[in-house]
This record gives sequence, C-alpha cells and structure tokens, in this order.
Amino acid sequence: MIRVAVVGSGPAGVYAAAALVRDGAADVDVLDRLPSPFGLVRYGVAPDHPKIQSISLALARVLEEPAVRFLGNVEVGAGLTVADLHEHYDAVLFAHGASVDRRLGIPGEDLPGSTSATEFVAWYCGHPDVPVDRFSLDARSVAVVGMGNVALDVTRLLAKAADDLVTTDLPEHVLRALRASRVEDVHIVGRRGPLQARFTTKELREIGEIAGADVLVDAAELDVDEAGLDREPVLRRNLEVLRSWAARDPAGRPRRVHVHFRRRPLEVLGDGRVTGLLLERTVVDGGGVVAGTGETSTLDVEMVLRSVGYRGVPVPGLPFDEAAGVVPNDGGRVLRDGRPVPGEYVAGWVKRGPTGVIGTNKSDAQETVAALLADAPALPKAPVRDPDAVLRLLEQRGVDVVTWQGWRAIERAEARLGRSLGRARSKITDRAELLRAAADGLAAPSDPGG
Ligand code: NAP
Repeated sequence: MIRVAVVGSGPAGVYAAAALVRDGAADVDVLDRLPSPFGLVRYGVAPDHPKIQSISLALARVLEEPAVRFLGNVEVGAGLTVADLHEHYDAVLFAHGASVDRRLGIPGEDLPGSTSATEFVAWYCGHPDVPVDRFSLDARSVAVVGMGNVALDVTRLLAKAADDLVTTDLPEHVLRALRASRVEDVHIVGRRGPLQARFTTKELREIGEIAGADVLVDAAELDVDEAGLDREPVLRRNLEVLRSWAARDPAGRPRRVHVHFRRRPLEVLGDGRVTGLLLERTVVDGGGVVAGTGETSTLDVEMVLRSVGYRGVPVPGLPFDEAAGVVPNDGGRVLRDGRPVPGEYVAGWVKRGPTGVIGTNKSDAQETVAALLADAPALPKAPVRDPDAVLRLLEQRGVDVVTWQGWRAIERAEARLGRSLGRARSKITDRAELLRAAADGLAAPSDPGG
C-alpha cells in the first residue's frame, strides 16, 4: 500500500485517484487549491450543460471512497511545497490543469473591455477568484476570437435570454448582469476556415437553437475543397450545420450571432476602452497553414473575448516547459533534465495540453497510474508515514483545510441559498463565505437543512 498525493480534483485528478484505489494499491489524498472539488466541471462547464455538469456525481463517488481523502483549500506552492509532498507521500501525481488563458500577442489586447474567455467563463461559473462585478455586459457588440468549444460556450451565454438560464446554477449576480445585458451582436472570429474550426457538432448546433438569436454566416465562406471530407465526419457535419444557417433567412430576432472565417485579429482598437477589432483577411493552404493577405477590415465592437486556448502555469519546484505550457513528461512520468523522476507524475491538461473532452482524461489518467503502479515497488518510502501529519502541518501554517464533510456542508449551504432565491441551487462565489459554510456545516453536522 503506497500513499499518493494527487494535486487537483478536476476530472484528471479524480480519474487518477479512482485508478489508484481500484485494486487497493494506494491510499490517496486529493488536494485542491479551491475549497471545492471538481475543477472545470464546477468552474468551466457551461451552466446550460447540466448533463456534463452531472459528471460531478461520478467524481464525488470516487472522492467518497474510504481510501480517498479530499483536502480542499490547499495550494501546492503556497500552503504546501513540492518538497513537503515528497516528505509525506511516496508518490505525487500532479493534475492541476491549465488554468490561464493563451494570449493573442497583439496591440490593445489589455484595453478595458478586452479580456480572456477563461476569465469570463470563471465569472459566470461563480469562481471565487473573479470579482462578482468584473463584467457588466454593457457592450452592444462583442467579438469572440477563436473557434473552439469555449468560444461556443461564451457565445451561447451572451446570446441567450436570461430567462432561458434561470433553471441553471448560474450565480445570482450573473443572472442579474444577463438580465441587464445590452448585447445584440456576437461575432465569432476564426483565423482559418470552416474545415479547421475545432467545434464539436453538438455544441455548434446549439448556437442555431438559441430562441432569441439569428445566426449569420456568408455562404461564400463555406465554399471549400471537400476532397477527403468523408474521412472527417465531424468536419462534414459541421459544414452541413453551417450551410443550413447560411441558407436561413434572418428572422429579425433580438440578437445576432455572426460567424466570420479567415480573419485574423491585428489590433484591438480603442482609446481607453475597446471600440473595435482590426482584422486581416487570410488564406489557408491545403495543409491548414494560414497567411495574411493585407486586406483589412474593422469590426465595431465594445468587448473582445479571446478564446484561443488555455495554458498550464508553473508550480515552484516542478519542471515546466514554457513553450508547450505543460510539465515535461514521458507517458505521465515527470522528466527532469530529460530523465523520469521516480515518484513524480502528471495527468490531464498539465500533461498533454488543453485538448479533448472530459472523458479524454480517463484514459490519460489511467496511463499515468499504470506507470506509477509499475514504479511503485521500487519507490523510496516517504519519511513521514502518519497520514494525519500533513493535516497538522497545514494547521500549523494556518491553512483552513476543507474536508469532504466540509464540501458537503458547502453544498447544503448552496442549496439553501438557491431555495431562498426561488431556485434549485445557487453557487456561493466568495472564498471566505465558502470556508465559513464548510466550517459552520461541520459545527452542525446534523443540520437537516440540506
Ligand atoms: P481549442 O479547441 O484549442 O480552440 C482554440 C481556438 O483558438 C482555435 O480555433 C484556434 O485556431 C484559435 N487560436 C489559437 N491561437 C490563435 C490566435 N493567435 N489567433 C486567432 N485564433 C487563435 O480551445 P478551447 O475552445 O479553449 O477548448 C479547450 C478544450 O476544451 C478543447 O478540447 C474543447 O473541445 C474542450 N471543451 C469542450 C467543451 C464541450 O465538450 N462542451 C466545452 C468547452 C471546452 P487555430 O486552429 O487556427 O489554431
């Protein structure tokens, strides 16, 4: 039986914990810097995707296993160092994801009104790191740069009517902002063509199903070389969806979603605030390589959301490949100076980069755990063997650890908050309040209000 710390309680971390305890091979502590578990399932999945959100139920079952402990509000690099982890655990598996956005690297990117979809998503998901008043939605016209599923998520949130989202767990301040929203036009901008867009078809279709929005796309932009498309069913279906939109007459709905292909952003325009996005028309060759044509145009927008992917962040004491934004690894074994380090592993986005859907993390985590368990017999034992020693260390350092019982108390408090607002559940968005809810719930564990 080995003791393993898993850093990060998103899908990759929890799937790794599940694989580690399956045959009784390990005792696992799953650490998260937030008071709550589930990573992007709680703070990234769009609130109007309840089926995907419900993956948290399966993740919760893992975190409730007797051989698994959840330790929330513990930040590795702050509350605990990587060296501390090696003191207390025989192996450490990092699955802390890719938490920051990639940048466009163009002038004006930091003007007020220009921000990352990552931050916007975190805001509407009630992430405690984003102030509730961060977004006011007073722009009439918004550009969303990038053609992945995150771009579609933020577009739906901007284009849907607040009333259509009232049954979700959207935080109350977000619902208020959506009710007051002045957004009329959302422009999705891709630097390449429809065959290079990374949308999945189900998510793309949902844009056309928004009751209060017309979708506008120029049929000429969809005139592409279809050779070889039969081997690319997703691209074929996406093209069909886009063509069905191009063939539709606008119905005069209150909002419009415009889809622009082959336009790359050159500059976010504005003097003190965003007033436009300067674009250059591009050409894309048969290999998907993009080149500028010199022909420019301006989109009049007051808000720009760049949705061009996520990046991992370095953890002090852990190697990091700046260019790739991941921890260098070989099949999940962390590499230091090109060599695998016994006892250090990675899974999920910090291992392979921000790609794939939630389920992709299962096979990814299983590959890493297979490597870890193969190494296990030869791993040096951690010097500290008492499982409670790490809790004492955290207490000494003034860290308020949120245990699984604490998380359950947070859930009950969120259900009570929801009921008081006439909704099923509403997220608590303030970190101090989350910690209070965890502590209060533990003080009154028999509280039947949940
Ligand atoms: P993504 O799928 O990697 O898409 C990023 C987009 O940004 C691409 O269109 C890319 O275009 C574009 N881009 C990158 N750099 C750019 C630049 N400098 N200028 C202009 N455009 C640029 O990333 P994502 O949307 O953040 O999604 C991350 C992962 O989460 C994906 O695997 C996604 O499927 C998944 N996800 C899934 C769901 C769901 O299943 N419902 C929801 C959200 C996210 P190029 O192709 O030209 O580089």
